[in-house]
Amino acid sequence: MTSPSHEIARAVIIGAGPAGLMAAEMLTDHGIAVDIYDAMPSPARKFLMAGKSGLNITHTEGLEMFLARYSEDEGRLAEIVADFTPHMIIRWMEELGIEAQTGPTGRVFPSMMKASPLLRAWLRRLEDGGATLHTRHRWTGWDEDGALLFETPDGPKAVTAEVVIFALGGASWSRLGSDGAWAEHFAKEDIPVTPFMPSNSGFLVDWSAHMNETYAGAPVKNIRLTAGDVSTRAEFVITERGVESGGIYMVSAPLREALAAGEALLNIDLLPDVSEEALTERLSRPRGRQSMSNHLRKAARLTGVKKALLYEFTPKEVLEDAAALAKAIKSLPLRITGMVPLDEAISTTGGVPFAALTEELMLEDRPGTFCAGEMLGWDAPTGGYLLTACFATGRRAGQGACSWLLDSAAPNGQNGVTDKGDAA
Ligand SMILES: Cc1cc2nc3c(=O)[nH]c(=O)nc-3n(C[C@H](O)[C@H](O)[C@H](O)COP(=O)(O)OP(=O)(O)OC[C@H]3O[C@@H](n4cnc5c(N)ncnc54)[C@H](O)[C@@H]3O)c2cc1C
Repeated sequence: MTSPSHEIARAVIIGAGPAGLMAAEMLTDHGIAVDIYDAMPSPARKFLMAGKSGLNITHTEGLEMFLARYSEDEGRLAEIVADFTPHMIIRWMEELGIEAQTGPTGRVFPSMMKASPLLRAWLRRLEDGGATLHTRHRWTGWDEDGALLFETPDGPKAVTAEVVIFALGGASWSRLGSDGAWAEHFAKEDIPVTPFMPSNSGFLVDWSAHMNETYAGAPVKNIRLTAGDVSTRAEFVITERGVESGGIYMVSAPLREALAAGEALLNIDLLPDVSEEALTERLSRPRGRQSMSNHLRKAARLTGVKKALLYEFTPKEVLEDAAALAKAIKSLPLRITGMVPLDEAISTTGGVPFAALTEELMLEDRPGTFCAGEMLGWDAPTGGYLLTACFATGRRAGQGACSWLLDSAAPNGQNGVTDKGDAA
């Protein structure tokens, strides 16, 4: 076996996604040269993929509501996010020359919707500030002296650094780099890691052949979805295997919990703008010789995929009873049978728990080693909340690493650290 070449670095970041790059920015802002390593041939592939359908970078709803979107055992993420608010993200983006555009529901996107112009400008600024990107460098653990080990096209490499920030992502869309393999290397060193679970993912439903053949791919709009104590007006899409997209991601946490407990029901209000009483009254009007389909269309304006959903889950006798039918339309129970595979989830929960980290996101038991981004144990829906938390935790870990270096710095500045910014 070839023995690894050995390099010494001041500050190392592993993982060139949004969290790692934001951490790098904190270091370069303080004149600290930083080496960024990534396993993939190019950086931030998931970030670029997120931009394919419109990069929803943050959200401008009230801060209290915004922070309430995050869940995590220790309740510490909200404080970190509150330190890098959506308005600060908008300003940060504008400083990179990218205008922000806010949609009618408060979702914020870069004006061109894509991630690539933002990423290009960001990488240029980081490089100008002293960051060096090493692609095709897969981190594979530590050697017995604590050096970081990498597989590279030029053979194995060991790197010793004063500070290390891990920003290795979650465990989905592995083809973009985030394969979660880091969890094994952490576990070998007894660093706590909780199991990964899919979040913001599709769910499985046993559709009838008719539903599948006719409606797979159909969007279901203007509805209300409820699972557990989460209720949302967002829409969803019927897939061959079940249900997917925006509205489903909003209720994915309670559905996941319900599945783990044994039974998961998703309640759909097919007509959220009509009360059950009004609907009962309309459906009670004599049907005469009209077919049920016509009656539903005329009395309730229920057609297409919504009508198909109603038929799919409603026994015949309920269709004949106006009050029971109104109840079914207002609260259609869709039985969820499982989740799509972890790798297909938009994001994952699990990873390094906040309990294992200091306020600066440094591992309690590994001084000088920080963690950030989706590899930490938190959860949030889509809507810009995921990227915001990745930026905010990357920023906090980067600031922590700066402070760590400054605290151990030579008093006369010989350590090369400048005080261009405020590290704390
Ligand atoms: C299709 C899709 C659309 C999305 N849209 C949005 C959206 O609009 N808004 C939003 O807020 N969020 C969105 N997200 C989620 C968001 O992209 C992620 O939460 C975010 O990219 C996570 O950032 P991160 O820096 O923590 O990790 P990642 O972006 O996953 O980056 C981790 C990096 O670490 C590298 N890495 C992993 N293991 C190793 C190793 N062993 N050695 C070296 N390098 C390694 C990977 O190659 C990768 O570059 C979307 C996700 C997907 C899949």
